Amino acid sequence: MICEILSVGTELLMGQIANTDAQYISKRLSELGINVYRHTTVGDNPDRVKLALNEALGRSDLVITTGGLGPTEDDLTKEMVAEYFGLKSVLHQPSYDALMARMTRLHPDKPVTANNLKQAYFPEGARIMPNLCGTAPGCIVTHSGKSVAVLPGPPREMRDMFDRELAPFLSEKTGIVIHSRFLRIFGVGESRVETILLDLFHLGQPTLALYCGVGEVQARITAALAKGEDPAPVLDPVEAEIRNRLGDAVYGEGSDSTLESTIVKELTRLEKTVCFAESCTGGMLASMIVNCPGASKVLNESYITYSNESKRRLTGVASDTLSRFGAVSERCAIEMAQGARVRSASDYGVSVTGVAGPDGGSEDKPVGTVYIAISTAKNTTARKYEFIGDRAWIRKLCCAHALNELRLTLLQGE
Ligand code: ATP
Repeated sequence: MICEILSVGTELLMGQIANTDAQYISKRLSELGINVYRHTTVGDNPDRVKLALNEALGRSDLVITTGGLGPTEDDLTKEMVAEYFGLKSVLHQPSYDALMARMTRLHPDKPVTANNLKQAYFPEGARIMPNLCGTAPGCIVTHSGKSVAVLPGPPREMRDMFDRELAPFLSEKTGIVIHSRFLRIFGVGESRVETILLDLFHLGQPTLALYCGVGEVQARITAALAKGEDPAPVLDPVEAEIRNRLGDAVYGEGSDSTLESTIVKELTRLEKTVCFAESCTGGMLASMIVNCPGASKVLNESYITYSNESKRRLTGVASDTLSRFGAVSERCAIEMAQGARVRSASDYGVSVTGVAGPDGGSEDKPVGTVYIAISTAKNTTARKYEFIGDRAWIRKLCCAHALNELRLTLLQGE
């Protein structure tokens, strides 16, 4: 099967956004054994969309479009597909009902406008792909031996629809089923992970790919197998080898297994609790834990100690520590973590204090200087980090590293 990707969106042509949709689709298609011959990008212009569609369908069996699926006037991809095949646009009742329910729920006091309803119209005979992450459903139109799959532009919606709806449809045609596992790795940089796993990238089957997250790397192991074939014999040995080479750096598998969910599970299993003393993260750590179901078993209370005064009052940091070493110091982090643990009567205390920027840096403590401390009944240790990035990124890195330090402490049984 020969495929082309047609990306619709003026913002792509103007360089306002990168075409990550096409990249994602291409990767997934190659795993499905489908050849991608061309990527074409056109603006939101009906004549140019139709022309590009005409050319692409003249060369290929399958054209996958992204973008131009929303409610506004310039969203016209579906209409152009209908016109190309000479099909009527017809109302799809389940999409209409779902759209009305969603719009009324989101905007109970506003009537649903006519342009919104166009999202429930599709070329006659199209196979509808529901959109679980947004409003505009996609569709697959098959006509005269050719297929066009119409996907939304927003990457989150597009990926979900591709994986949930289009990939199974295509794998039905190619007879190939994709099986993937994601291993989550923390504390080893991407290039080092690549070096450690280098030979595993050349196995052919399964394939290995690395993705970057906040301070972490994800390794995706993928096998494209014939329908009905058991993936375990192909995936298990490679997963075991990666775990063996990277040891404790592998902290979980799958998109649901985040650092915070790993910690909540582990603390629950151990019947232990944690308390945070957060300065530059301002409550983010506690919030990440509370995001996980079952958090109430492991977190009783937590402190945001942003000012020096609150560091003293809530976690008992000594005035002398603050005047001699400053709030961003190893000593202060240690006293914050100890104070959090003891005052909340928790088993573990975790503290973060640092300079998130953009102001507040100095020569000896530049922006990105952060101390993270972990306090247990046995001892309290702090570690200095020098992060690079803007304020938001530094704060996210603080949380990820603090959670990882706690994870390693739990692993060591301290
Ligand atoms: P909407 O319902 O939001 O209008 P849509 O399906 O009509 O969605 P577009 O309006 O074309 O899609 O794009 C919406 C947003 O999705 C863009 O502003 C952009 O942020 C993102 N987007 C669109 N196409 C791509 C692409 N090819 N790669 C990455 N992001 C994209």
